[in-house]
Formats: sequence, C-alpha cells, structure tokens
Amino acid sequence: MARHVALIFDLDGTLIDSDDALIDPFVRLGMARDEITFGHPIEEACAEWGIDIDRYIELYDTAVALPFEGADEVVRQLGRWAICSNKHTISGREELARLGWAPEQAWFSSDFGGAAKRLAPVIEAMGLDATDVAYVGDTEHDQACAEAVGCEFYWAGWNPRTRGLATGPRVLDTPERLLALVG
Ligand SMILES: [Mg+2]
Repeated sequence: MARHVALIFDLDGTLIDSDDALIDPFVRLGMARDEITFGHPIEEACAEWGIDIDRYIELYDTAVALPFEGADEVVRQLGRWAICSNKHTISGREELARLGWAPEQAWFSSDFGGAAKRLAPVIEAMGLDATDVAYVGDTEHDQACAEAVGCEFYWAGWNPRTRGLATGPRVLDTPERLLALVG
C-alpha cells in the first residue's frame, strides 16, 4: 500500500469509542436511542432533530469516551497527523486535551462554519497535497470526504459499527495497521 506523509483522522468512532457519550445528551433531551445516527455535523443533527445545541454541548461529557484499543499508542508514534471531525469544537478540543493528543491540525465543526467537514483546508494548512495524505474514518460520509478531495481512505475496521459498510484491504482491523501507511 502507498506510503503517506501524514494521516488525517475522523475522531468519533474512529480514534475514540464515543457512541455512548454522543447518544447520552440526545436521550436526556428526549430522543429515542434508535432515532440517533452518527457522523453528521453536530449543528446540522441538532437542527434536524430539534435539539438545542447549547444544551447538547452542556450535557456532552468529554471525560468518558476512551480511545479504541491501540489507538492511543499509535497516534503517539505518528510523525504528522491531524483531526478533521464534525464534532462540536468545544467538545472536540476538550477531548483532545484530556487525551493528551496534539495533532498538528485539529479541525472541528466551527472551523467549517457549522457545515459538513472538508479535507481540503486541513490538507492545505498542513502544506500538503491530497496525494500525500490518507483519511481514516468510520462512516460513508468520511469516505465521501476523502473522495471529494482525491485522497486515499481507510476504514477504522476496529470499530464494530463499520462492519457491513465495507470489506477489502482498506478496512484495517487494528490501529497498529496504520503504522505501515506512513513513512
Ligand atoms: Mg466518526
């Protein structure tokens, strides 16, 4: 597989096992658990589902989601890496600080004006081209983001929720597999 200068990651469901943390405020604000899906810009999801974004951010607990097994060790070994996430900026930055993670770029929803995330400005801020990077994510929206900018995409296959979405060599079964993609 191609070697890349840098890896860019989605955060929720890719590096951290945050489904329960993300669901909890929605449920506490009156939604049914089976109405909730993942990967949307948080502002758009709240608007569509009639949830007050400020209350959601207040109720979202940035202290509970843990990295997937192996993810913490791997990001600490990466030279150049970044985050490109639809997560709310306040929640996302608090979570990175708690984890002690320091990606060279961390782009969250307010960096995109509350609209869907895009990889192009993140790659540009890194001084790289799309062919230099790979994006790692857990949803079809993430895959579409990579296709839109023309970079390679890999699935966080260590998240059981990705099973059924994709098969083949781009589905990585452990975070350690990422280390072979860079260098
Ligand atoms: Mg995700």
